[in-house]
Amino acid sequence: MDIINILPDSVANQIAAGEVVDRPAGAVKELLENAMDAGATQIDLVLKDAGRTLIQVTDNGCGMSDSDARLCFERHATSKIQRADDLFAIHTMGFRGEALASIAAIAQVELRTRQTGADIGTQVVIEGAQIVSQEPAACPTGTTMTVKNLFFNVPARRSFLKKDTVELSHIEETFRRITLIHHDIGFSLTHNGKKLYDLTAGSMLQRICGLFGQPMKERLYAVEEETDIVKIRGFASRPEYSRKTRGEQYLFVNGRFIKHPALSSAVEKAYTDLLPEHCYPSYFIGLQVDPSRIDVNIHPSKTEVKFVDDHALFAILRSAVKRAIGQFSLATELSFDTPEEFNIGPAPAGYVPPEPKISYNTGYNPFRATGSQTHMRMESPEWPKREERTEQPWLTVEADETEETTPTPTTPAVQTSACMQLQGRYIATPLSSGLALIDQQRAHERILYDKFMGSQQAAIGSQTLLFPVQCRFSAADAELFNELIPDLKGYGFVIDAMGGCTFVVSATPAGVNESAIQELFDQMLTDHKGASMQKHVSRSQCLCASLARQMAIKPGQQLTQEEMQQLVAELFACPLAEMSPSGKRTITIVKPEELLH
Ligand code: ADP
Ligand code: MG
Repeated sequence: MDIINILPDSVANQIAAGEVVDRPAGAVKELLENAMDAGATQIDLVLKDAGRTLIQVTDNGCGMSDSDARLCFERHATSKIQRADDLFAIHTMGFRGEALASIAAIAQVELRTRQTGADIGTQVVIEGAQIVSQEPAACPTGTTMTVKNLFFNVPARRSFLKKDTVELSHIEETFRRITLIHHDIGFSLTHNGKKLYDLTAGSMLQRICGLFGQPMKERLYAVEEETDIVKIRGFASRPEYSRKTRGEQYLFVNGRFIKHPALSSAVEKAYTDLLPEHCYPSYFIGLQVDPSRIDVNIHPSKTEVKFVDDHALFAILRSAVKRAIGQFSLATELSFDTPEEFNIGPAPAGYVPPEPKISYNTGYNPFRATGSQTHMRMESPEWPKREERTEQPWLTVEADETEETTPTPTTPAVQTSACMQLQGRYIATPLSSGLALIDQQRAHERILYDKFMGSQQAAIGSQTLLFPVQCRFSAADAELFNELIPDLKGYGFVIDAMGGCTFVVSATPAGVNESAIQELFDQMLTDHKGASMQKHVSRSQCLCASLARQMAIKPGQQLTQEEMQQLVAELFACPLAEMSPSGKRTITIVKPEELLH
């Protein structure tokens, strides 16, 4: 009995579609690439419901003839290669002739196209791989491909689609990967009637700024190199603008985005010793190599590539980036050295700081030693010897949940004694019990943390930004960030989700550095992910600690007398003044008798 059947084309196409178009972003990629292959100089992408309901790509390229407009939906229909040899000299994005066949198998597609020089265009309607109609149509030169109801006949696929925000962020990433390197083509992206990007043709730097915001301009160095085997053009971030997440790392080969761990590490190696720990450079680098030196035997929708000259490429790329960051920056600019640590050390593991025994009355000036009567007494908790201390995981201060809403006492209007700043880092001030040495950063962290925890928005203040700042995250981070927005609002942020991975920040708590908002959130997300492993740390504790740590004044910041006095007064108003939120000591008191030994 014969049991072998030849699959009907419609089934074969549906199977192929699963590979090429596994989600809306896959269809977007294919349609944008076809438009570029057609020589378009302007390409407009319109989406509805993250591509689920509608993906429309309009180009001003060469267009198609009447019969090509039907033929293009056949499997293996391609105008781009004719012979197997052509495979070794591919200059176009597509060549397998299966994208449109795949898309037409799983969606309702309408094609309107007019060839350059033709009087009239044509319109083809095709549904589940069946041509429904073809008729003449008046349309401009070029092509509009309209893809409706993706996966309408493949319910299993449809149900695999993620939330719109996730699908849209995949599309946005696809859009970035294509538009970054094809900066000589104008692109736009409109989603649910809102124009998210309008990118005019221009330089690569202009394109980077169009996608990631104007501040990028100051944050990048040009990377350029030309040798016999490769031509390199692109940009890499100045070391001080490295990010906490590996977000904006783009490598292209011959106009195509690629993932290539060895080449990526070549770029990162160029930054050796220049970046703080867990920081990554951003880069946008295009390589041009002879197409015959690339292994084309790879799936076009995948992003892996093999090079014949792997090792040489690695070395050339690393030295090009190294030169870029070395050539234009002064060694002093690159110094991330922090001054010697103040020898307080972390609290021991599991150490729960006792409530410091501080009592004060707001009418009394605790900083002026008056006679023998001590209204304010600070007793340091028993502190184990340094050798006994072990590293304390980030934030283990356990606070009673019910205390979260109890506002910390408002700052008493105390007049502190004169303060002195040491090494741009510590504040020395006399107390009745001795000389207090206060770590300015840890102290400020404590003050901010208490204000955030008490959600004392009024105490922190909110600043409206003159120019709202755009922030972008990876798809996963964007989802997480979305969940945190309600909390962040409570701290004085005003944030609007723009769809996909983009958010617009129009206000922040007072004191946030406007140009570092992205970094602030990146770090906050990293902290949040880390802290979610620790059961006893609540979400708000983590967020507040992260914000406080990042917003706190840093070592090296010179403070005026007034600022120091205010800081000291506010610190002593905190119930847990002795300890920073991360469990580090804020104050050391040197007693007069100790000085005599
Ligand atoms: P491939 O791009 O691999 O050739 P596709 O299925 O994506 O295969 O497209 C099939 C053919 O349809 C292309 O080779 C091209 O000739 C034609 N085509 C597709 N999109 C366009 C477009 N936007 N403008 C002009 N021709 C197009
Ligand atoms: Mg194609």
